[in-house]
Order: sequence, then structure tokens, then C-alpha cells
Amino acid sequence: MAIIIDGKKGARAVRDEVTKRVAALAESGVIPGLAIVQVGHHAPSDIYVGKKVHACEKAGIRVEVHRFSASITDSALAARLRELNQDPAVHGILVQLPLPDTLSTKTLLDVIDPDKDVDGLHPLNIGRLHAGRPGLVPCTPLGIMRLLEDYNVDLKGKHAVVLGRSAIVGRPISWLLLRAHATVTTCHRHTPETIEHARQADVLIVAVGRPGLVTSAWVKPGAVVIDVGINRLPSGRVVGDVDFASVEPVASAISPVPGGVGPMTVAMLLQNVVDAASWRAGEG
Ligand code: NAD
Repeated sequence: MAIIIDGKKGARAVRDEVTKRVAALAESGVIPGLAIVQVGHHAPSDIYVGKKVHACEKAGIRVEVHRFSASITDSALAARLRELNQDPAVHGILVQLPLPDTLSTKTLLDVIDPDKDVDGLHPLNIGRLHAGRPGLVPCTPLGIMRLLEDYNVDLKGKHAVVLGRSAIVGRPISWLLLRAHATVTTCHRHTPETIEHARQADVLIVAVGRPGLVTSAWVKPGAVVIDVGINRLPSGRVVGDVDFASVEPVASAISPVPGGVGPMTVAMLLQNVVDAASWRAGEG
């Protein structure tokens, strides 16, 4: 029987820490502020933005949502982002992805002040992560590392295998694991025999976006398995990339979906906003 890695509990602990830090900042006259930029209509984005707003408000973070029509141009959106860069009440800026295809996502993300880039996607923050310098790191990988820490998963000298190499999950988690002294293998859609790599893993991180991809045949007995996937089935049920029923008896610990990495992502966003506000206030 594997230990079930409880992301709801982990997220509560992070939110409690954040709430205390927000109160301490308020005493020195700083109210951390997050600006969320949303373009067009995209049902899942509406849900994610709603969750972020609610979590910020509960923690005492001031949050503003800037909604724009899907017809906005790159230059008009860039101008709005520059205004937010200049606004002293805004410590964090988040562009809710995906943006409509008519916009140049990378160019727009590059406009955000790196010190307000709470999604950690600006090239300067990617460079900071690679160089081992302090900076803002994407929320989902941060949440995974926090869960591994909470459950005392020893990474030093262990083999971590990451399935997926996206900018938001696969690549940054690979770097964080490397920084924690794991030996890291990152697999992607062009990796032949991914299953053979996965079976070598002491710690297996799955961020692919394919429901039930990973079964017990992919998992070394006793491995720690972190399922990042969020997949909505036609029935409406949300499942991960790992076939939980098949893998749970083989793993030593496993994060479920829902209730694993997902809640941690929102909690780490709050932490990033408070970090950004603290750094700006010189209290980091
Ligand atoms: P993405 O589509 O950007 O990247 C998927 C990656 O998987 C790519 O790098 C691709 O090369 C790789 N891949 C495809 N088939 C593969 C295979 N057979 N073996 C190994 N790698 C393969 O996706 P993403 O944004 O990284 O998201 C991945 C999943 O995680 C999705 O289900 C997404 O919804 C979920 N997600 C969850 C959270 C959270 O908070 N829990 C956050 C972000 C993403």
C-alpha cells in the first residue's frame, strides 16, 4: 500500500504560511497585489482564474483581474502589461494561458517585469533557475518540490525520471530535481522506449496530458510517483496521467488526481506573489 501524497493538506500548510506573511507585510504598510490578465473566453481558464482569485482573497492578497476581448492586438496588450509593470500596488503579474492564437505568447510574456513574473516564465527567471540564483519559479514544479519535501523524499543521488518537457512543468521540475542532487532523465514525445526509462525511476514525475498513460508496468517497485496530469474525460471525470488503481500497489508513495499537485499549484502562486512583494519591500 502506497502512502497517498495529500496535496490538499500540503496546500493548506502553504496557504497558512502565506497568510501569516501577508499579515506581517501589512504591518509594514505593504499589501501584496496580484494582477491577472485574461484574454477572450476559454471555459477552463475561467475556472482557474476563479480559483486563483478566491485563494488570493482568502490569504489577504489584493487581486485584480484585467479582462480583454480576443480581438486585442499584441501591441495593445503589451502596453497594458507595461502599465502593470509600473504600478507599485502590483507585485505579481500573471497572464492566464493559453492566449488566443492571434497573439504572440512568448513576446508578450517577455514584456512582464521579471521581478513581477509570478509564473516564472520570463527568460531571465528561467536563466536564474538554471544558474541556481534566486528568482521566481513556475508554480507547479515548486508545488511538486514542496510535496516531496513534506513527505521527506530523499532526492540526493536518486534517479528521477520526468515524463514531459514543457516550459511550465517538465523542464523546470527537471532543473529543480537536478538542483536537489538527483540524477535526472527527461523524456518527451520523441524519446524511444520511454517505459524503459520510467522503470528505472526512484522518483517518477508524469506531466504529459494523456489519461492513464502510466501503468504498473512503467513503475519500479517502491518508486515515488507524482502525477501532474489533469485530464477531463468525456464523462466529466477528471483523471491524471497515471492509472492510479494499477500503480498504487507498486509505488511507495503516489499523488492522486484530483487532490495532489493541483491544489499545490495555486498555493505556490500565492507564495510567489508574497515573495515578489517581500523582495520589493526589501524584506526578502
Ligand atoms: P504540454 O502539452 O505542454 O507538454 C506535454 C509534454 O509531454 C511534451 O513535452 C511532450 O513531448 C511530452 N510527451 C508526449 N507524449 C509523451 C510520452 N508518451 N512520453 C513522454 N513524454 C511525452 O503539457 P503541460 O502543460 O506540461 O501539461 C501536462 C499535463 O499536466 C496536462 O495534463 C496538464 O493539464 C497538466 N498540468 C497540471 C498542472 C497542475 O497544477 N496539476 C499544471 C500544469 C499542467
